[in-house]
Amino acid sequence: MNIYERLGVRTLVNAADSYTIIGGSRMPAEVIEAMAEAAEAFVYIDDLHDAVGRRLAQLTRNEAAMVTSGAAAALAITAAACMAGADEELGARLPCADVPRDEVILYGCQQNGFVQAVRMTGARVVELADRNAESARELRAAVTARTACLLYFVSPQFERHALPLKEAIAICHELGVPLVVDAAAQLPPVSNLWAYTEMGADLVIFSGGKTLRGPQNTGLIVGRAELVAACRVHSGPRSSIGRPMKVSKEAMAGLLAAVERYVGLDHEALNRQHEQAVVKICAHAGRLGFRAERAYPGPTGQSYSRAALYPEPALGRTAVQLQAELRHGEPSIWVTLSEDGTALLVNPLHLREDEVGLICDRLTKLVDRR
Ligand SMILES: *Cc1c(COP(=O)(O)O)cnc(C)c1O
Repeated sequence: MNIYERLGVRTLVNAADSYTIIGGSRMPAEVIEAMAEAAEAFVYIDDLHDAVGRRLAQLTRNEAAMVTSGAAAALAITAAACMAGADEELGARLPCADVPRDEVILYGCQQNGFVQAVRMTGARVVELADRNAESARELRAAVTARTACLLYFVSPQFERHALPLKEAIAICHELGVPLVVDAAAQLPPVSNLWAYTEMGADLVIFSGGKTLRGPQNTGLIVGRAELVAACRVHSGPRSSIGRPMKVSKEAMAGLLAAVERYVGLDHEALNRQHEQAVVKICAHAGRLGFRAERAYPGPTGQSYSRAALYPEPALGRTAVQLQAELRHGEPSIWVTLSEDGTALLVNPLHLREDEVGLICDRLTKLVDRR
């Protein structure tokens, strides 16, 4: 019996996305091995942070980098760094916000649950309205001596009404305000690891436990050396606002191995593999009475496709019903729904080949039970 069987906890097939509530992603063998190796010895955690950060900076073509305990932790730590700089004493006042720069600006259309990680540092979040034509003027008007940074979430869903990132960067630089990009789920393409900093973003955040397939409790900050150094000041192992978000030596080794692996992958071959899975699922579903098509891009704008399966009326079940039946079957299969709820979306990102077959077989069974 495996650990989940011994514990009586059911496993599931993830055809949805890298969701924390279902365990994020699967760590490849290289990552697990690096973590086991790191577990063997004691080291000075600061030395390891330095060395891993330098290597991650090289791999991601950035000036500097550091490992955090997740992208959400990185939101808190980058906010602290923008509020207090590298000043440990100012940092010690957080979260009471008794610091000269305590405001984080955010486009209202980008408001989401992760912003709480910023507020926990004591930062006041200043929301900009979402009127396209005025957003440049509005951003300029919102910047004051109290501004710590502009926080910008990249993804088609969040950017709809905000000033385009390039323009926001230009304004922030003109006014001397750092711009922090949350790109937690913006891989692939792999080039996003350096694209936002090349555009001029000061700090960029990625999740380590999503597409990178590092430890689920890791995140990555890349960007300007001075600001990354400030992030370190407000992180573990120091007593600081970031101390409850400490990063273990195993997690650092694991994320480094994951990034090394990810940047070295044959991304074209991987993309072909995803496309083949989508084609196979679409062809199978088409034979079963779905209208099946390739949906592009990925759930938050990533450069891969998914299978969109629209049940025809003759099937007698809606996409919502089929989603629930897939979830409650054995094993449980997680798929998401299209925005309008009329299609099942099958995401190949975390599917092994055997699981693609398993999904096809399950669809056949569900349809036969009609
Ligand atoms: C997933 C996600 C996060 C949180 O990432 P963790 O690594 O799980 O902490 C933050 N911001 C955005 C936009 C995300 O998609």
